Amino acid sequence: MIGGGIAGLSVAAELAPHARVTVLETEDQPGYHATGRSAAIFAHNYGDGMIRALSAWSEGQFASEVLSTRGLIRVATAAQRDRLRALYEDMRHDTPLDWLEADAVAAAVPLLRQGHADCAFRNPSAADMDVGQIVADYARGIRAAGGTLGTGFRVASARRADGVWRVTSEKGAEVAAAIVVNAAGAWADQVAAIFDMRPLGLVPKRRSAVTFDAPPGTDLRALPMIVDADEQFYLKPEGGA
Ligand SMILES: Cc1cc2nc3c(=O)[nH]c(=O)nc-3n(C[C@H](O)[C@H](O)[C@H](O)COP(=O)(O)OP(=O)(O)OC[C@H]3O[C@@H](n4cnc5c(N)ncnc54)[C@H](O)[C@@H]3O)c2cc1C
Repeated sequence: MIGGGIAGLSVAAELAPHARVTVLETEDQPGYHATGRSAAIFAHNYGDGMIRALSAWSEGQFASEVLSTRGLIRVATAAQRDRLRALYEDMRHDTPLDWLEADAVAAAVPLLRQGHADCAFRNPSAADMDVGQIVADYARGIRAAGGTLGTGFRVASARRADGVWRVTSEKGAEVAAAIVVNAAGAWADQVAAIFDMRPLGLVPKRRSAVTFDAPPGTDLRALPMIVDADEQFYLKPEGGA
């Protein structure tokens, strides 16, 4: 398994009881890239129908301690109202959602400039994920089933002989496997090239996050996540009171 993010770890943990599994991860710890830097929100109403179906199915895979309800509010300006309404109509069939008009939005999301939001919909069931715990649980499951988690192993080259892949790190370490799974996230095309596979057009990109203190007296635990109708920005409260 090349890549120790949530994709590689979760698949490796499922496979480990049935096969000899080795996860190879460039960094010194699993979950360091997209997995460790996400907004960590679990929402049934995110993405297209396929992603929503997978999210609904996967919720049952999590131990209840790794999810804690936060709620998510998708806000729109007057110019975005029609697009938000269309999203709401599309998503409310598989996720319970509440429609909010301007006054209710202002009360629910005091961090937004008054007057910015014209309307919104709320998904009360969206939950924070404890990603550190999820990663640790998968890593433990892999090891408990006899698998190996090899960190500090950046796959740099590979060759195949007699039905076996020999995968070599940039430091010269080698691992042999009959089957290789590419779970390298944004770097999956680079890994595909090592195996002479066709690229999909994936490009690793940086994102920027701005962190700031909430206004004094704000109870961050009671605030929902706020997402703009077109996903131009989102606000995720983090931390205690
Ligand atoms: C800013 C942001 C916010 C997000 N918010 C959410 C959210 O709120 N909720 C949600 O569900 N999802 C969210 N996501 C999406 C989610 O984080 C990703 O879909 C998920 O983490 C991808 O996991 P992955 O395992 O595919 O990739 P990654 O976690 O990036 O793992 C890929 C791993 O492959 C390793 N690798 C790459 N090349 C090699 C190599 N040659 N050899 C060995 N290892 C290699 C990398 O080091 C990396 O650790 C967000 C993503 C971002 C960027």
